[in-house]
Amino acid sequence: MNKISLKLTKTYDENEILKALRESFEFIGGLDSIVKSGDTVLLKLNLTGPFRPEQAATTHPVLVKMMVRLIKECGGHPIIGDGPATIKSPIKDTGIEDVAQEEKVPAFVFEKFQQVHLSDYSIVRDISYSTDVLQADKVISMPKLKTHALTLYTGAIKNMFGAVAFEQRKALHKYKTQEEFSKLLTDIFSVRVPDLTVMDGIWGMDGIGPVHGNPVNFGVLLVSRDAVAIDALSATLLGYKIDDVQMIGRASERNLGESNLDNMFIDDSCYKERILHTANLIPTLQGGLRERFLKLVLGKIQCDSSKCSKCSACLDGCPANAITMNPYPVVDENACLHCFRCYEICFHGALSIKYKKINS
Ligand code: SF4
Ligand code: SF4
Repeated sequence: MNKISLKLTKTYDENEILKALRESFEFIGGLDSIVKSGDTVLLKLNLTGPFRPEQAATTHPVLVKMMVRLIKECGGHPIIGDGPATIKSPIKDTGIEDVAQEEKVPAFVFEKFQQVHLSDYSIVRDISYSTDVLQADKVISMPKLKTHALTLYTGAIKNMFGAVAFEQRKALHKYKTQEEFSKLLTDIFSVRVPDLTVMDGIWGMDGIGPVHGNPVNFGVLLVSRDAVAIDALSATLLGYKIDDVQMIGRASERNLGESNLDNMFIDDSCYKERILHTANLIPTLQGGLRERFLKLVLGKIQCDSSKCSKCSACLDGCPANAITMNPYPVVDENACLHCFRCYEICFHGALSIKYKKINS
């Protein structure tokens, strides 16, 4: 039976995190049953962009630091990486550079890719995938517990999207229904299923995630060998039905993990009392209804000309060709997919998206 450790941890106090991680690994069979002496262990973080830790959009540096130390205890060689949504590297702003320097381990943005050809796929057969992820002896995924405007929730399955080359990720944003995008994410997840997942739900995000939502102190840390099971439990804790988050069912159908909580052995027998009951969940709307909802809660994407360098990076990164330069970026609301790539790409902070709180 799949084991998931669920720890209640409200802060990023180093001692508290280390204790919680040790207890979690003991429950699932020991970190040394996964990491062997001499292994290169890639920590695949969620570093979606150059956000500060308190913005709760990226994997917290204290959790990463404690994982680095535990991997070293097993004799492994940790390396840290991700493929962000932004052109500007997130390594410094997210606090990961400090961890890397302190622990003397490499931390980098994925830059080398190789073609992977999937024989079993739904949407995408040929994927330009991170060489660092493919070559690591062990892959430990460290997603962040957040809502997501398209997939409702972003977690362990979606975290592996960052292993795909930037240009291909941009092109793949043309799949704008939850059904299409969930199939796509499952294809990508199947390339290299992580050996272990450590979900940072201590501070996460609700509202219009994954970067524009509200930081929330969920106070949970989840650990499992099964990333799909982690997503099933996380989505449940957020208050979703597992079936609402389609990528979980898709991954389970393809035998990439377990989606049925009854088939999981969870060390917190009271987990059903831990439902977080956040008031700001993305509604489970599909297709045209979802788009109408986003148009309702989102204002127009606006450019602050005093910050804009007219570099056109947002225009180049828009999968819908919804941006023109006049002379600053102007967004065609009818063409916009609300994928938020332009906002994430602009490292000058010139673009802003105004939105109203859901249910408020
Ligand atoms: S909004 Fe940002 S990304 Fe777009 S042109 Fe201006 S500075 Fe460049
Ligand atoms: S304008 Fe921005 S949010 Fe809209 S489709 Fe283009 S990149 Fe995505």
